[in-house]
Amino acid sequence: MVHFVGAGPGAPDLITVRGAELLGRADIVIYAGSLVNPALLGLCRDGTEIYNSAEMTLPEVKDVCVRGHAEGREIVRLHTGDASIYGAIREQMDELAAEGIPYDNVPGVSSFCGAAAALQAEYTLPGISQSVIITRMAGKTPVPEREALESLAVHGATMVIFLSAGMMKEVAEALLKGAYTESTPAAIVYKATWPEQKIVHCTVGTLASAGEASGIRKTALILVGDFLGGGYERSRLYDPGFETEFRKGGNYG
Ligand code: SAH
Repeated sequence: MVHFVGAGPGAPDLITVRGAELLGRADIVIYAGSLVNPALLGLCRDGTEIYNSAEMTLPEVKDVCVRGHAEGREIVRLHTGDASIYGAIREQMDELAAEGIPYDNVPGVSSFCGAAAALQAEYTLPGISQSVIITRMAGKTPVPEREALESLAVHGATMVIFLSAGMMKEVAEALLKGAYTESTPAAIVYKATWPEQKIVHCTVGTLASAGEASGIRKTALILVGDFLGGGYERSRLYDPGFETEFRKGGNYG
């Protein structure tokens, strides 16, 4: 059995309880060494065989799983954040399925949630934005033309941009072709929840220069939108004037 486990954004105690239990039991762990905090490997028992997938190809990862499965061993494939976001897990699952190897998936805290926590921010403020766009600039992996940053930018929604810290000038230019302005608030969050976490507050207009001055070029998210500003409307959820299924108006002063 292979368990795909989300390791969380960095801090070792932000893995799920289920993920931690599986790591503690695993005979073999293949972890994404470029981003997973190695402190998490401290949860493994003595004698666990550990592989760093940053130094491996897909066929090599598959071979470790095929051999481990044939030996009846329990395997954890440890991915950063939540594996469903830029995790390249689909191709691994398809390889395992072709070999008849069973697998399951354990969610993790994605770095975009870690970044919101670091900023003490709420992405979905009433009156500001009720949508979060998760996207990236094209890199080695292309982005479909219809999802180009400048087209997504027409909404002016909360935006979380992965894998693009080395391209802040291009990001800002694309955003300005949409609904954002030079003064729209933005933030760069480097290594959210790690001890070396850094937060840079800026605007879309200053993103490129602030990014350059910070020296941050990878392992960072670019967050954009008025959710980082001061204004918003209060939610109706806790409004004393509104009833919900769980709270009848008037009962709670
Ligand atoms: N599956 C991961 C994303 C993997 S793609 C997740 O759910 O978070 C790798 C990109 O994620 C990095 O280039 C960076 O943009 C972002 N990232 C991963 N960990 C991060 C962290 N702790 N802080 C900020 N960005 C992070």
